[in-house]
This record gives sequence, structure tokens and C-alpha cells, in this order.
Amino acid sequence: MARIKKYIFVVGGVMSGVGKGIASSSIAKILLAKGYTVTALKIDPYINVDAGTMSPTVHGEVFVLDDGDETDQDMGNYERFLDVSLTRINYMTTGRVYQEVIRKERNLEYDGRCVEVVPDIPLEAIRRIERAADNARADFTVVEIGGTIGEYQNLIFLEAARMMKSKNPSDVAFIMVSYLPTPSKIGEMKTKPTQYASRTLNSAGIQADIIIARGDTPLDRKRKEKIAIFCNIGADQVISAPDIDSIYDVPINFEKDRLSDILLKVLRVPPKRKTNLTAWKNFVKKTKNGKRTVNLAVVGKYFDSGDFVLSDVYISVLEAIKFSSYKFGVRPKLTYINSKDFERGKLKVSMLAKFDGMIIPGGFGNTGVEGMIKAIQYVREHKIPYLGLCYGMQLAIIEFARNVLGAKGAHTTEVNSHTKYPVIDIMPDQKKHMAESRYGATMRLGACPAILKSGTIARKAYGQNRISERHRHRYEVNPRFIAKLKEAGLTFSGVSPDGQLMEIAELPKSKHPFFLGSQFHPEFKARPLKPHPLFNEFIRVASLKKKAG
Ligand code: GLN
Repeated sequence: MARIKKYIFVVGGVMSGVGKGIASSSIAKILLAKGYTVTALKIDPYINVDAGTMSPTVHGEVFVLDDGDETDQDMGNYERFLDVSLTRINYMTTGRVYQEVIRKERNLEYDGRCVEVVPDIPLEAIRRIERAADNARADFTVVEIGGTIGEYQNLIFLEAARMMKSKNPSDVAFIMVSYLPTPSKIGEMKTKPTQYASRTLNSAGIQADIIIARGDTPLDRKRKEKIAIFCNIGADQVISAPDIDSIYDVPINFEKDRLSDILLKVLRVPPKRKTNLTAWKNFVKKTKNGKRTVNLAVVGKYFDSGDFVLSDVYISVLEAIKFSSYKFGVRPKLTYINSKDFERGKLKVSMLAKFDGMIIPGGFGNTGVEGMIKAIQYVREHKIPYLGLCYGMQLAIIEFARNVLGAKGAHTTEVNSHTKYPVIDIMPDQKKHMAESRYGATMRLGACPAILKSGTIARKAYGQNRISERHRHRYEVNPRFIAKLKEAGLTFSGVSPDGQLMEIAELPKSKHPFFLGSQFHPEFKARPLKPHPLFNEFIRVASLKKKAG
């Protein structure tokens, strides 16, 4: 069958944080469930060329793709909802677009003419959108434009979308994800902010085809009709999207309002196929089962900006935990612990005794590090299951070196460059980048293969010899200490194919039920229908502890 080649732009009205990323992922999902080829693309309107140089408390999680691109967490949602691995082609920022236009200008690729913000910037954005669509041979390309309508920053991308629409009106649809507040004193849902957002969108030359109405509660018919009149669309094109417990319910709810059929009508695609969300629905059912809870401590340092950012900083870790927990029919209960509290005596590490497992996710710098090391010592000595991700593995090795190997003061040179025992050290090729202050996209990034050692926890969990996982780090296990660490009882169960880089460290089962750290980030490859082997094994053992206790 010939390719359909349609574009769906998703924009946000009223305010940020209303779930545009989940809406975009869910729209892509329901079209995929109709048997079409679908891809998704995120546009971030900031100047940063990628998300890699931003602090997690500012930006949330940096999601790393197979090809090493450091992107926005929405890319993680796309991968999880669609069960695909995306590439840098699917991610764009203002910085990236300008960088390319300037490069072309310097290379005389504009034939000596004056290069202008309009149309040259939107044209480059369009070229990238079409490239992503062609690369995936997509029937439908969902393009999420970051930010909120009315912002200066994303105007240039709205202009790109408008240009695409005016060229081929029936190939482009606009969906505005809006928010309807219910002020507590008034007690009813208000449509006015959405009306204003719709007009602001009109002033950019764009008419929404569909409005997704987010809010605390479902939208009633009366308000649907009100929005329809004031925003120039049919009442059926207003989709109610109330708050729900699980984001994975969203595609199912959209289909209850027949969103995919409405979209096909807008884009003049004859509806031929039925939506098949069977596997997805089975997964969603599991998210609601599970009577037993598994109590997990997440120990980290990015907990200072108020609770609301927590889930954003470690979103892929949290989702990975959930997928594996659902697999074993248990409910994860997460407690976030700021490791600084162990340092300043606000909390005693013995409080960790009540948990079934502990995770230390990735991180950078010296803040809270001693608290994390103390916590690791406690869970190692008390046989509480431990999963360390990237920094979480490096710190576990430091703890092991200090307290088992007896290397007092062992450290990573990231924190202490003068330590007598630099068990974690900067990778040789990173030194040059640091000396020249080249921080952008210079870490060891993206998918790299590793070979697993037979008879280990990792090998058993994966059920295969060779794996490929995503990385994002500058430091590594110092080769000088590998033999000593092994002699003291640590197993390197995953190593790079050339044997040089230590990718997984673990303690044998005879010493500890589950004590394992990975230099890579397994969380980036955990999917709802394919929970990650390392998280599976961690959760399995942690939930056993619960039973025993
Ligand atoms: N800071 C450590 C490094 O650069 C770990 C990075 C991480 O946890 N992503 O190697």
C-alpha cells in the first residue's frame, strides 16, 4: 500500500505541564494500533543544541537514545508507548536548527542570497520534520511543539507548521492540548483560558482541528459545546481528558472518544482498520492488579527543588521499576531519600532496614555522595537488594574498595582528584574534552555492547551472552584496581567486548541476594511490554524479601 504521509502537530494551550508529551505519545499509539506506520518527533524551543548540558533540576531527566543523543524525557515516552528506538532525527531544538542554517550559510549553500529568520529557519525545521517522516517511512508523523501557545520561543515552529498546512491542507492536522481549571471557590470548570489560547493560536495563522481538554474532571457536553462555538470546531472534536491514575490509560481513553477516527476524518484518510489495543489493555490491567507492595528506597541528591520535580528527574527509572513490578504482580511503593540527610544526621542509615530494596540512580558531582556511600554500606552489610545505575555502580565500587578491600579514602576522581585510591577515574579520552571545556555531547554516550560472564546474576537475568545498553558518563572503573577488586570478591559480570571497560559489577549470590550496579542506564530500554531484565531480577528478589519478612 502506498504511504499516506500525514503530519499531526501537537501544541499546548494555557499552561505547561498538562501532559502534552503523553497526549502526543498516545495519539501516535492509537494510530499505530490501527496498523499504520507512525513516528514521533519532539521540538524543544530552547537554544540548547541538546538537553545534555542542563541541570536535572532545571530540565528533568536527560533521555539518551541509542545513537547517544541527549534529549528530552518526552522522547522516552514515545519510545515506551510505541516500543521503538528513535534517533537524533526525531529530536530538534532551536539551537540545532540555527546551527545547521548557519553551517549551510558558511558553506555557501544558500547561493549567496540573504539568509533570513523567516522563511529559512522554518524551512530548515520543515526539512527536518519531513526527514524524520521519510526515515521511518511513516504514514503519520506526530510532531510535538514544546512550550505553550503565546510564547515567543516556539513561534518559529508554529510558522513551520503553518507553512506545511498551507501547502497541503489535508495532510496536516493541529491538536491543541489545553487545560480547563476548576477554581476551588467557583467549583466549576472554566473554558475561557482555552478560548484565549485558541485565539492566540489563530493569530499565528493556525486553527486547531481537535482540542484535548485536560482537567481534574471529565468535560461535560455543555462545555464541549461552548468550546466548540468559541474555538470554531465541532463539539465532537473536543476530547475530554481528565486526570487519571495511570498515563498508560490515556490511549484507551482517547479511543473511547474515537479520537483516531476523528483524526482520520480531519486528514481525509478513509478509515479501514480497527484499533487493536489488546496487548496494551492487558498491560494496563496489570497496572491495577497487585495486592502486595514492594517497598523501595530511591536514594539520590536531586531532591531539593520541591517534590514536584522528583518524578521528572528519574522518570525512566520510575517507569522501569513499575514495568517490572507489574510483571511480578506487586505494587511498587517508592520513598525518595535525599542522601544529604544521612550526612547531616537527619536520618540514620538504619532506617533502610524497613525497605525491600534500594536504588541509587545516575548523578554527577560531590553533593550527597558520602551519604550515598553510607547507604550502600548498610544495604550491602544487611543484605538488602541493591541496584546501582551508573553513578550508583561507581559509588558501590568505592564503598566496596573502602570497606571490603580496606582502601581507606578510596574515591572517584570526579570528587577527589588527590585520593590515594582512585578506583573510579576519568576515561582517557575524556581528559582532552575537559581540558578544553568541551562539555556538550562529549560524554561516552549511547548504545555500546557488553559481554556477560556465565554463572552471574546479570547473565542469568538477561538470558544471553551479549547485550547492548545506553551510556552517559565520563568516569569508569580504573583498570589499575580491577584485579584487586576481583580478588576481594567483586565480580565484573559485564565487560566491553575488548575487555577494557567494566560495565556491570555484582556480588555473588552466596554473599548477597542482589547487589549489582551497571555503568550503563538500563532504565532507558525498559518498555511497558518488555520490562528490563535487570529491573526484573531486582524486583523479583526484593519482593521475595517482603515475603520472607
Ligand atoms: N558522574 C559519573 C560519570 O560521569 C556518573 C554519570 C551518571 O551517573 N550518568 O561517570
